[in-house]
Amino acid sequence: MNSLRRTIALFGGTFDPVHFGHLRMALELKVALEFDEMRLLPSHQPRHRQTPGVSSEHRRQMLALAIRDCPQLAMDDRELRRGGATYTVDTLEELRAELGDSVSISFCMGLDSLLTLTTWHRWQRLLELAHLVVVTRPGWHLPGEGEVAELLSKHSGEQHHLREQASGRIVVREQTLLPISATRIRELIARGHSPRFLLPDAVLEYIEDKRLYRTAAEGGC
Ligand code: ATP
Repeated sequence: MNSLRRTIALFGGTFDPVHFGHLRMALELKVALEFDEMRLLPSHQPRHRQTPGVSSEHRRQMLALAIRDCPQLAMDDRELRRGGATYTVDTLEELRAELGDSVSISFCMGLDSLLTLTTWHRWQRLLELAHLVVVTRPGWHLPGEGEVAELLSKHSGEQHHLREQASGRIVVREQTLLPISATRIRELIARGHSPRFLLPDAVLEYIEDKRLYRTAAEGGC
């Protein structure tokens, strides 16, 4: 067992647009779980999405602006470059091949995502490739029975496992979420209201400059 294993965490999302909820969560996870790297992983826009999302390139640019002065956070844009359907397992396979077997990879997700994990493409492979860090809100309960409960009890781990093993553990972390969502930000802009103080100024300036998320009812930010 190598206690000096390098640890890399991934925080996925559509980031349409990225906001302080995402950034704060990623930073807190990095600090609390002592990851060597925290990479924000923008996903290719899911086809079923109903909201007026913007292009991958805009989402990439906004994320780059959001983290440009924050050396603790990085972006991994491989899913945008790959395009097409985004499967986490493909991303993890690619990263594992790139980083080798000794690096520890942690994929961070909310409890809601964990609850649907067994519907994910080749989900059984995920824990062979990475750890899962599951973020729960204070007061929320983990499932007590069913496939996910079994998975949790089989793979349950503590923070130290993230450095001692390269993959295979599920670490649950309770954390408060800032009450911000990208949906709300898009709605505010579409109605001509300002989303200021919910996301970095540089991202807001980009949105204004490129006139993103507006509808026919134009308005300023
Ligand atoms: P949308 O409103 O468009 O669904 P979102 O704001 O929920 O977007 P996503 O890009 O879908 O953002 O989420 C990326 C990741 O960030 C997910 O793991 C999600 O659980 C998490 N997340 C979303 N909002 C917050 C928040 N306010 N605080 C912490 N994490 C968040």
